[in-house]
Amino acid sequence: MKLSELEKLVQPFGNTEKMPLLFLGHGSPMNAIEENEFVTGFREIAMTLPRPSAILCVSAHWETRGTFVTAMEKPPTIHDFGGFPQALYQVQYPAPGSPALANETKAMVHKTDIGLDQKWGLDHGAWSVIKHLYPQADVPVIQMSLDHYQTPQYHYDLAKELGSLREKGVLILGSGNMVHNLRMVAWDQLDKPGFGYEWAIEASEKMKTYMRSGDFQQLINFRSQGKAFDLAIPTPEHYLPLLYVLALKEENENLSLFNDKAIAGSLSMTSVKIGG
Ligand code: ZN
Repeated sequence: MKLSELEKLVQPFGNTEKMPLLFLGHGSPMNAIEENEFVTGFREIAMTLPRPSAILCVSAHWETRGTFVTAMEKPPTIHDFGGFPQALYQVQYPAPGSPALANETKAMVHKTDIGLDQKWGLDHGAWSVIKHLYPQADVPVIQMSLDHYQTPQYHYDLAKELGSLREKGVLILGSGNMVHNLRMVAWDQLDKPGFGYEWAIEASEKMKTYMRSGDFQQLINFRSQGKAFDLAIPTPEHYLPLLYVLALKEENENLSLFNDKAIAGSLSMTSVKIGG
């Protein structure tokens, strides 16, 4: 590709003030269509942000071998779950993609050769929350996959290469859940937010302490944090998007929490905003 062509592609993402970072606890896919305090929290946080030029979403629900970014013009809405009411399968989130941002992301990352994906789209980790931030679906969205075969440190280091997107108005958004153990969900408590098992509360409190003190290395080394963390993070995919966001925090930036609640015993909806 000639430089002049590349410049044309990247032009939509001109320099702006540094975009804040978000980690959103997405919880149940039903949050896409329900009205509850978490959905209100998503809407309220969106109102505190400058309007993004685009969104790069790292979702718990897209794991691959190697790292990919979605690069299609029109990402389809993927209903990647089973057993939910029909209304949830009817949700469409027709935000445009951004081949330009996909190309730019690929070009700026040196840690790995990022693949340009034409098959994925927006999974529910992305659309179930982004639809509350930007209900008009008028902000372009790309997703970046999680390489299933890499270490937490690798993900953290890879994320660090994305920093300059913030100056181009791109909202980098991690979507997962810090505490996420589906095998231990207390299903009868699902509609009564606030209930967390002892280990879930312990893990959540420790995570928040490490976040507030900037001790991110402890969070990268989550496998050495003992039983509560092992139960909170039985598999890492819902936790790793948090590391992508923390990796991009600069020293002088604020870190604030919202939707900071346990739910159904073994999940936490705790969400993070950095900067702004
Ligand atoms: Zn999920």
